[in-house]
Amino acid sequence: MTTERLYNTDAIILRRRDFGEADRLLTVYTPHRGKLRLVAKGVRKTKSKKAGHVELFTHATMQIAAGRNLDIVSQADTVQAYRAIREDLDKISHAYYLAELVDKFTEEHDPSYPIFELLALTLARLADGSPNEQFLALRYLEIHMLGLSGFQPQLFLCVSCGTKIEPGENFFHIAGGGVMCPDCGASHPHADPIPLGVLKVLRFLQTRPWEQVAGVQLKADTRRAVENLLLQYITFTLEKKLKSVDFLRKLRKG
Ligand SMILES: [Zn+2]
Repeated sequence: MTTERLYNTDAIILRRRDFGEADRLLTVYTPHRGKLRLVAKGVRKTKSKKAGHVELFTHATMQIAAGRNLDIVSQADTVQAYRAIREDLDKISHAYYLAELVDKFTEEHDPSYPIFELLALTLARLADGSPNEQFLALRYLEIHMLGLSGFQPQLFLCVSCGTKIEPGENFFHIAGGGVMCPDCGASHPHADPIPLGVLKVLRFLQTRPWEQVAGVQLKADTRRAVENLLLQYITFTLEKKLKSVDFLRKLRKG
């Protein structure tokens, strides 16, 4: 008989889907092993003791057995269930979005403790925060997720000529990775004007601790503009990331 290789880890469940007769396939994020795909056996049976501990968005401690293809959850205990999220439709949809972002920005077995920490803290902020705090928590997550995965938008220097951005008629160039000064931006076909208020909010989100961000009140149009700009930037970045992953795969195959 071969000895099973066991390891223990904290894990937050990002995704799950049915697998086989009674099992579930989980995508989890861990503090020191990064993103993992695991099998939780038998958890769809009514008498499963593990089932309640491997719910979506739950933070659990797990004992895992290394398998030939997929590792298997042999034991799970809830650390934090974030129950308030499950009782509110808005919070659930925010948590789905959060989990999807973390999933899309990370690769398996590529650990980042700051990403784990950000994920856990954002879940807590969604669970307990006011609607305004939930909005800010998601924007804070977006800008820090970009930074932690190597796609930090440049908000202080012109991405074309490098001059320091002064208050005024500045631009934002998504494919260029950040702000453009009035001279460079005005003549660029794909740079859009960025209102000063929007730039200030983005800088605040990028550089200030959450405790300061949590108290910010935004006007409705600034709020919408910040949300749209980040969404466009993230969409562009994820497409670029996917293309580079595809390219690397092809290169390896070749
Ligand atoms: Zn410039």
